[in-house]
Amino acid sequence: MTTTRDTRAHLAPVLVAGRARPAPGAPVHNPARHGEIVGEHALATESDVDDAVRAAHAAFGRWARLGPHERARLLRGAADELGGLTAELAMLLTREQGKVLWESRVDVGGAAYILGYYAGLAGELDGDRILREDERVTVHVGRRPMGVTGVIVPWNSPVYLCFLGIAPALLAGNTVVVKPSEFAPLALGEVLATLARRLPEGVVNVVPGTGAEAGDALVRHPLVRKVFFTGSTGTGRQVLAGAAGNLKNVSLELGGNDPALVLESARVTDTLVRELVRGVYGNTGQVCFNVKRIYVHRSRYDDFTDRYRAAADEIVVGDGLDPRSTMGPLNNRDQFDKVTGLIDRTRAAGATVHELGRKLDAGSFGDGYFLLPHVVTDLDPNAELVTDEQFGPVVPILPFDDEDDAVDMANATEFGLGASVWSEDRDHALDVARRIQSGSVFLNVHRVGASAVDMPFGGFKGSGIGRGHGIAALEACTEPQTIADWRDVSGLPGPGPAGDAR
Ligand code: NAD
Repeated sequence: MTTTRDTRAHLAPVLVAGRARPAPGAPVHNPARHGEIVGEHALATESDVDDAVRAAHAAFGRWARLGPHERARLLRGAADELGGLTAELAMLLTREQGKVLWESRVDVGGAAYILGYYAGLAGELDGDRILREDERVTVHVGRRPMGVTGVIVPWNSPVYLCFLGIAPALLAGNTVVVKPSEFAPLALGEVLATLARRLPEGVVNVVPGTGAEAGDALVRHPLVRKVFFTGSTGTGRQVLAGAAGNLKNVSLELGGNDPALVLESARVTDTLVRELVRGVYGNTGQVCFNVKRIYVHRSRYDDFTDRYRAAADEIVVGDGLDPRSTMGPLNNRDQFDKVTGLIDRTRAAGATVHELGRKLDAGSFGDGYFLLPHVVTDLDPNAELVTDEQFGPVVPILPFDDEDDAVDMANATEFGLGASVWSEDRDHALDVARRIQSGSVFLNVHRVGASAVDMPFGGFKGSGIGRGHGIAALEACTEPQTIADWRDVSGLPGPGPAGDAR
């Protein structure tokens, strides 16, 4: 196979205190054409990570003292500049990540949008709350930044997910060191370099590289006080263990195996079917809270599966830069092998596997990690495809007779990220939603956009620790502090039997 290089050098360097540092690199391939190298990312070493953390540590005091409104002003300025770069960087993101262009615009556009949203929350950090005030004492309660925050990013929506971590952290007065994914570091690297230029030196630092070296060094560094990690549940476990050394605060946004429950009270309309197709195949199935399994009441099952297969059959798979494509390739070899292996084993176990959709260009289909949309029926409720997170364009559809059984099946998992309930009876759907063990439940929708930036987002069980988005994320990157100003201590307990129990 011939390898072509982009004539424009796209690089994701190590960035420490505003200076790009030459470092040995690794290629970033276009998932739509294995032979095309889109750019290179640095392989940050432990020593690069140490320098980046020290730069962030040195910048922390001044950044924290600026106050939330001045920080918000600077973040807004960066958002304005980043908004102007969205169209160009979206094309770069499609070439390194694979997703279709409109999805890349949402992803890259997230930088300006999320910065702007958090800049608007500066007032939430104004002053302290007075918990108690009387002639003896005034008690102030406020929130303080934690210090250096390590933000570790996955490849599926790299810019959007990075900014959900760094925007609240920066507004709250923390400085950051970002570890992008080795599979999609280029557009994010350019966005972060632009942001870093708009902020004081050392506030934003970047250490591209492998998880085993750069990610692990960041998680273990003693000057890092908080880790905001987004990625798989398996890696999340390692991050939690690594962060234990100096008892770092962690936010873990992990994997999901989201169920969609189509109740007897649902009407199988074109809208319902179309929404559930979007919920499964958006970003080629590579969204943490995509629908990963569909349970349909038996009275609706045949109608639903027929119409669902017909709708999925309209998907056109091809290069995300081609406007005729409605679904791009998977992002990388490991993910492609994992999903195709899962489909092969599911077929071998006797399930009915429907391969649907259309290849935009059959001749070059094998040149990328392309996979047609798949629907699987007639499978065991405990099949691997049902119990594991597939993170690809394949979905099992299972019938149920009893709604309580459907809720039990939805909850019978170590995951608990998102879920959806589909019904014409919204009150009843709300009751069912409250019984599902997941951080978000959507009624009659389940896709990107349904979890807006102001809605707390995160997982029950193995899907994570803590909540991102909205004010919840500001709280997650600040420490509550109580200041007790005693003017009269005469009544406080003294030594002796009634002394302070601690
Ligand atoms: P991953 O866990 O393989 O990698 C995520 C990041 O962690 C990458 O930057 C990687 O280099 C780094 N990493 C790997 N090993 C590390 C280690 N030992 N220490 C520190 N960092 C390490 O995940 P992925 O394949 O990039 O992303 C897909 C997964 O992420 C899916 O499971 C998906 O559901 C999940 N995800 C969750 C959310 C959410 O908000 N809950 C959002 C997007 C993706």
